[in-house]
Amino acid sequence: MDRDIDCLRSIPISALEHHAYCPRQAALIHLDAYFESNIDTVRGDLAHAAVDRIGAGTDRRGQRVWQSLPVWSDSLGLHGVCDTVRFYSDRPTPMEHKSGAYRPGGPADLQVAAQVLCLREMFSVPVPCGVVFSGRDRRRHDVVVDDDLRERVIETTRAVRELLEEQHLPKAVNDARCRRCSLRPGCLPEAPSVAPAQLFMPRSEGSLDD
Ligand code: SF4
Repeated sequence: MDRDIDCLRSIPISALEHHAYCPRQAALIHLDAYFESNIDTVRGDLAHAAVDRIGAGTDRRGQRVWQSLPVWSDSLGLHGVCDTVRFYSDRPTPMEHKSGAYRPGGPADLQVAAQVLCLREMFSVPVPCGVVFSGRDRRRHDVVVDDDLRERVIETTRAVRELLEEQHLPKAVNDARCRRCSLRPGCLPEAPSVAPAQLFMPRSEGSLDD
């Protein structure tokens, strides 16, 4: 067990993905319970709808498959739900379904790596990798969970826990990430750079991203 991470408040794995995208996004969702939908979140919901069935079965190759499998790690203080877990020779491999493009090293890697670490602990078997299925290219992308990625999961979990315990809302990043972020209407990332009165002025249609 790692130092300083025993007896911990359990963190939802989804918060790691949100934090990796933008720490303020993680705080808005997991501290303030603020959420908005946009076209990307609706696409994501539709992609998950196809796999959001609880239960077990076998696939065309006769391999065992669990859908919506709850996972957790007491040693890391993490919990979540895997979209799909396939058992190859009794070794579980989680697959996370994403509607958008796959970005190597991006937030989805962190999410599926956290699932891998949970499964290693739950089943006490080697789980070398997870998979991100991208709806954009309709391909599976293997995510090998090595020591570096494991360390990123631990560090991000620690950062999210600190953020939740200190109830701290990080500053807005106010960069390209905000253009596709569904929380923009309530986050107001541009607020520090414009006079407060301007926030409530009508904008020309061309300046609207939403
Ligand atoms: S709008 Fe920008 S700063 Fe606000 S949560 Fe989204 S990405 Fe983060």
